[in-house]
Order: sequence, then structure tokens, then C-alpha cells
Amino acid sequence: MSKTAYIDNQAFSIVEGETILSFIKRYKDKNLIPTLCDAPNLDPFGSCRVCSVEVALEKNGPVKTMASCHTPVGEGQYIYTSTESVKALRKNIVELVLTDHPLDCLTCEVNGNCELQTVAAQVGIREVRYPEGENHLHRLKDLSHPYMTSDLSKCINCYRCVRACDEVQGEFVLSMAGRGFDTHIIKGFNESFMDSDCVSCGACSQACPTSAISDVFQSKAIYATDTTRTICTYCGVGCNLEVSSSNGEILSITAPYDAEVNQGHTCLKGRYAFKFYNHPERLNAPMIKRNGKFEKVTWNEVYNFISDKLTSYKNEFGPDSMAGISSSRCTNEENYLMQKFFRTVINTNNIDGCARVCHSPTALGMQRTFGTGAATNSIDDLKDTNCIMVIGANPTDAHPVTGAKLKQFAMKSDNVSIVIDPRRTELAKYATHHLALRPGTNVAVLNMMMYYIITEGLADENFIQSRTEGFDEFKKEILNVDLDKLETISGVNRSEVREAAVAYASSPNAMSFHGLGVTEHSQGTFTVIQIADLALLTGNIGRRGVGVNPLRGQNNVQGSADMGVQPHQGAGYLDITNDKINKKYNKFYGVDVPKHIGYKIPEMFHAALEGNLKAIWIIGEDVVQTDPNTQKVIRALEATDLVIVQELFMTETAKYADVILPGASFLEKSGTFTNGERRVQAVRQVVEPIKGAKPDGQIIVDIMNKMGYPQPDYTPDGMLEEISQIVPFFEGITWERLGKNGLQWPVAKDGTDTQILHKKDFKRGKGYFEFNAWEETQELVAHSNDYPYILTTNRELEHYNCGAMTRRTANEQILQDDYLMIHPEDAQEHLINDGDYVCLESPRGKVDVKARITDEVNKGILSTTFHFPEIMINNITGDIHDSEAMCPEYKVVAVRIRKSKGKLTQIFVK
Ligand code: SF4
Repeated sequence: MSKTAYIDNQAFSIVEGETILSFIKRYKDKNLIPTLCDAPNLDPFGSCRVCSVEVALEKNGPVKTMASCHTPVGEGQYIYTSTESVKALRKNIVELVLTDHPLDCLTCEVNGNCELQTVAAQVGIREVRYPEGENHLHRLKDLSHPYMTSDLSKCINCYRCVRACDEVQGEFVLSMAGRGFDTHIIKGFNESFMDSDCVSCGACSQACPTSAISDVFQSKAIYATDTTRTICTYCGVGCNLEVSSSNGEILSITAPYDAEVNQGHTCLKGRYAFKFYNHPERLNAPMIKRNGKFEKVTWNEVYNFISDKLTSYKNEFGPDSMAGISSSRCTNEENYLMQKFFRTVINTNNIDGCARVCHSPTALGMQRTFGTGAATNSIDDLKDTNCIMVIGANPTDAHPVTGAKLKQFAMKSDNVSIVIDPRRTELAKYATHHLALRPGTNVAVLNMMMYYIITEGLADENFIQSRTEGFDEFKKEILNVDLDKLETISGVNRSEVREAAVAYASSPNAMSFHGLGVTEHSQGTFTVIQIADLALLTGNIGRRGVGVNPLRGQNNVQGSADMGVQPHQGAGYLDITNDKINKKYNKFYGVDVPKHIGYKIPEMFHAALEGNLKAIWIIGEDVVQTDPNTQKVIRALEATDLVIVQELFMTETAKYADVILPGASFLEKSGTFTNGERRVQAVRQVVEPIKGAKPDGQIIVDIMNKMGYPQPDYTPDGMLEEISQIVPFFEGITWERLGKNGLQWPVAKDGTDTQILHKKDFKRGKGYFEFNAWEETQELVAHSNDYPYILTTNRELEHYNCGAMTRRTANEQILQDDYLMIHPEDAQEHLINDGDYVCLESPRGKVDVKARITDEVNKGILSTTFHFPEIMINNITGDIHDSEAMCPEYKVVAVRIRKSKGKLTQIFVK
């Protein structure tokens, strides 16, 4: 029998632990009870009391007035929502709030969308009975920040902003100071937004019920005529966005509270960094380079030019003389089309994407261990885990919304958190265990961890017995590792490793998260395999709160690989070398597709330098700025006869193009993105593409048709229908079924999706243990004598990857250039002061970067970002790749340093 309580004498079932307010909202009009301090994504607070109701223990019995937002509902309670006395109380509370609130509604930004105004109307205030008292109009407005503003004369002390800063973002920048009438919000040590440690996520602005804290885009103003729900274009978290627009212009972005991914939260990129979409520097016409200069041409002319050129290369040099690099910024449907074009029209498997330079070792390593190269669980599982292990990732900067959740988890004292990272990242500061290993020694530390799990008797024998294979051989190898050597080379004390291993293995549920600090190494795939081995060894797979969860980099890097943007697997990860699969593709596409594996990106550049690549088509990928060894990439592009670049802006790569195709941003087209937890979500067009640009999918379709392959026009529903017929795990996905929160693949024919993989079996049958010994990277073997420092790379919150989009927004005012993190002792040794330029020299060349002296890195280790082309840090990164997946080793670069006289021209070794 379910328990009941009564709302205005009517009986309803209650849910254990829910508040009176949520109980009432479930059964009655959600606006029946007015609220001010309550917010959908914050804990109950009970400060304003506007939500008061009367509660009796028997029908019409004696009542007690209670704030409904934070009082748990009890069995048998009689709740009276609208008695005269409670209505009078609410009215009186709001009247008191209004006595010091400026009554300038007509000129207020949030007029018509102000919660105080709404509640005042709702409780029936037509006049304020109290005499006008003191006010707070003397409080100065804070207009210091490019996105956030505050006018604290409008503050009603509801604490929603303070709580959002604490409970959602975990930043603790906002707090309350003063007493009584002087109680007021402060930022940091009573600073401006700009001077404080604010990370500009905008959670406070969205939480504020008035215009006390707001944003420059006036997101709470009501003059938008349209709102469109879509998905953020930046990182693999996949936050849902509510975009307001009017007359074809985007006004502002907020975060929907009912989004399963981000629950009303975003970072500053998703919420504020959208103004690039109509930036004056957008490419707005196709162009062909003639006599060294770009000339604008018509779409028809450029299509003919491309079609003629590609056809002639195919006839003269064969299909493998051409290659494509597709874009993880583009939709699944566009990526599907790009690989289809190369396989069916050109007849080559020379198609690859940015996963090559980020998570290709994840896909390969997890495929080798589990059979599927994707996250096993969902971020929501954090609610059910006891331990997180974050390795080679800095999620508070690179995956900010997930990062905030991980930080909230780490800050709670009962939880165990393990961070394995050379840098003392923000998360590491809160972690129970931080293993600050030397870059390039992940394999060493993880082998030590597994040694201790086995020798301490913490391996899950039942799980190993029933669900895995290869353990006996693996165990033999692990027990033979040389702990002395591994301790010395990793720089991590063995007792610290043992403690972390014991903590992970003895937690009832443990989840791991990894990033590019795992994959971008010469032993990247092996490290991924070890992370998967750890999960197998401890039985942390196949249920909620466990698993292996790669933090995918770009918004749709998962989707581009799913769609077949890989030289060895077609759409749906099907092996293109397999006869049966080949027949399936041939039948489906109506043409013969090739069976031999194509070029990976580094192999494309190599082929170009050998004179074997005649044409390359690159969509939305700035390889010159973001791929390693920039000068080599440039030489490869210069050696290629035809370089087609499809882009939003004249990027560093586009400058080397022979043909430019102006594509469309995520706000100008529809389709789907797949986030890091396999969630396929609908990207909905907000505005028309800027004049002269076209959706990238339509450009590919046009060229397919021009070259004789009949492909219907690009529509998201039409493309999804085609994809669902060839990609097995998309079988049940339709545009209509995606709804608000998308579906996590695999999706069965009836539309049922999958939150957790490998519950009973692995895709490959049994989970496979594979041992790999640590090996020093050739970068250090060859160069560490002459270049004694190790440079590693990192990302910053404010900019995304090459920064082509974020540098064209006000984010640039918040972070204006790349910088080099250097330990105080190293700085002292080289007489380097904070802000000095440091000359970083590697075997490939030299660049000058501004120093930031910090103990976030250990002595001998340097770290820098690569968001700004002026620095072009990849001029000094090398050619070493992961031995298995060919992902470049950005994370270990041998360098030497000296104080530079200023910002010098970059010098390169040819
Ligand atoms: Fe966009 Fe990632 Fe920020 Fe979410 S966390 S708003 S997906 S950049």
C-alpha cells in the first residue's frame, strides 16, 4: 500500500523523502505555490518562506505554517495550500521584500520575465502598505566582465546565486557579507566579476530571479520570438542549450533544467561563446586560389572545378591518391556522408578524423578489451559510485559541466577520488589521492596499481572467473614487474600508488574517467587497455556507478567514428576488410567499395610528402595549428596538388587551401551529435546559414551528385533513416524519437536505448586481459640529453582547441594568449619572472611563450596551451605516435628553455 497525504483534503500517494512542494507540484498546477528562493537545480533552502503552506495532522485539525520547499511530506499530513491566513502571510512577505526594491519595472531588463514581479502579481499585491523605506540604489553596478553584470540594488537576498555557485559549479566565488539591512552578495574578496575567480559559467545569472545578476545578452528579457533547443558545439559533454532568437538573429542562450546531460548548467563556451556565428570574418563565398590569391566563385563553378579535378586524379593516379579528413564539429549525418563520398564516389578508404589525434587509442584499446570502443556508463552514474579515478584529464577546464560534477563528488568527504596526472589540476586539489607522475609513465603507474590489487588479495575472483579470459598469463606478468624501476621512472612513491590501488579496488563501485593525458602518448592504447584491465580485475563493469568512461574531446568525436570516419572501419565500426561486410556495403551503397585499409592522418601527410597524395579535402579541422610538427604538416599540404578546405573561417589550414568551401555553424543546420556517453541528441537549426554559406552536409551531397552518385538532399530525418539501415546500433533511432534528451546507443528497433554496456556479456564475448610493459618514449630516448625538460600540453576553459570560434568571441577578453606553466625553481634557475617570455626549443624548432610560474607542475615539467596561432606550439611537438593507433604524442616533448628577450619570430628546423 502506498502512503498518502492530503492536498486540500484530497488524498494522493507520496514519494518517500520528497518535499511538500514537490508533492504538490506533482499533482497540482506547478505554479499553485509561489516561490522565490527555490530553484529547479538547487537544494531546498527555505529562506524566503513565500512557499508557506499550512499543515495539520488530521482533517481540518490545528495547523502549523511550514515552508513547503524544504519540509519533507509525511504520511497522513493534511496540507492546505490556499487558506486566507497563508495567502495573507505570502502577500505580507512579498510586500516586505518590495519595500527596499526599486520599483522601476518599466525600465528593468527583466520586466515581464522577473520572478519577483510574477510572484507579486500571483499573491495579489496591488499596492505596498508599508511606507517607502531605505533602499540599496547606492550599490554600484558591476560592468567589469564581458558577459556577466550585477546590479545589487535589485537583490532580494534569496541566495540562489550563492547556492548555484556552490552547489552547481562548486566555485564558491559568491557569498553573503554584512548583516541585517546591509546583507549583500560579494564576489571573491569583494571584487568585481572580472577580478574574482569567477569561471563565467553563468549559473548565478540563470538562477537569479530578478536582474540583480544578469548577462550582457539579457537572457531574461522577453523580446525573443523563438526559442530552439539544440546541443552545444564545443566539447563532448553535449550540453543542451535553449537558444533565443528574433528575426533571424540569435539573442542569448540558457540551459534547460530538464536536460538529462546538464540540468540547467553550462560553461561559458556553451552559454556565451556563440557570437562567432555571424562574425564579420566568416567565410561567405566559395573561393579558388589562382596565382596565389583567393578568388570568389559561384557554387556551380567550384563544384565543377572540384569534380573535374577529382575525376582526373582518379583516372590518372587511382582512388588512393585522394584522402579526406572529416570533422567532429559536424553532425553525424555529415560525417556519414563524407565517409560515404570517399568510399563510394572516390573508392578509397583514405578517410579519417580528429579522433586520430585524440581518442583513437581509446576506441582501439577498449575494442581489444571489451569489443566496443565507447563509454561503458553514463555521467549520471556518479550518483551511484563510491570512487572516481580520473587519469590524464583536467575536466574542470576541458569538460566543464562534467568537471563540475566530478569536483562536487571529490569535495564530499565520504567519497574517494584518485587523480593520476603530472599537473596539480583543480580536481587534484580536492582528490583523496593525487599521483603526480612524470609524463609518459602512465603504464608504469597502472601496472604498479594492478600489482598491489593482486598482491593485496583485492582482485574480484568471481568476476574474473566468469567474465574474462587471459588472466593467468596477465597475472604472471604483473607479478614480475620491477617495482623499484617503476617507482623511480614514474617519480611516484610506491606507498602512494598502493594506497590509491587499495582505495579503488575496495570501493563497492568505482568509475574511471580518462582524457588525452592517457591517449596522446606513444603507449596510449596500452594505457587504455590497462584502465579497462583495472575495471575487469575489480569487477567494476556492467552495472550503475562503475565502468570505463573516456571524456571525449570534441562535441561529436564519438559520432564521427561511429559513422565510419576511420580508414579501417566503415559506418557502424564494421571491418571493411571482411568479405561479408564488404558485400553488405556494396549492396547497400549500390557500388563496390574498396576492401583495403586506407591512410590514417599521419600517413596522409607522409604520402603527400612522398608525392603520392594528389588531393585532400579537409572539413572543419585546423591541422596546421592542431596537428603535431606544424612545419611538416605545412610541407605536406604544399606538396598536395589540390587542397580543399571546408571551414567557417580563414584558419591556418585554410590559408594553404586551393579551394575554400564556406560551411555552416551548428546554429545554422540540423542533425545529430553523439556525446561522450553515446547519447545521440538532436541539433536543431536556429537561424539560416549566413549569406553565401551552406550546411556542410548539403555541400557533400551536391558534390556527390555532381560526380554522378545520386544522393538525396541533406535532411536530418532522411539521413538518419539511411544510417539506421546500415549502422546496427542506430537501428531504432529516428529523428522523432530523439525528443528532448536523445537516446544512448545501441538503440533497439523499438526505440529502447542503453545506459550501461556489458551488463551480461562483452561484445567480444569475454573481457580480455592484456599485459603491456612500460617503455620509455623514443622522444626522450633520443633527445633528453640535449633537451632535458619535458613539455606537456593542456587546454584552458575559455578556448576550444585551435580557438577559431572562441577567439572570435568575448572569451578572448578573458584569456588573451597561451602561456607556459613553469615550476618556481626552474624559473629561478633560468632567471625567469612571471610574465617573461620563455624560449622553448625542441629538436623541431623554437617558440616563445609567456611564463606563468606555478607549482601546479613539478620541477622539470612544463605545460602549455595551444589555442593561439601566434604561438603555434605545434611547431615544436614531434612525430612520435601511439604504437597502435597512431595518435600523436603531444604529451611528452623534449625541450630546453631560456629566458627570451621578447616575443621572437618562430624558428624551425627544416
Ligand atoms: Fe558546451 Fe562542453 Fe561547456 Fe557543456 S561543458 S556548455 S558541452 S563546452
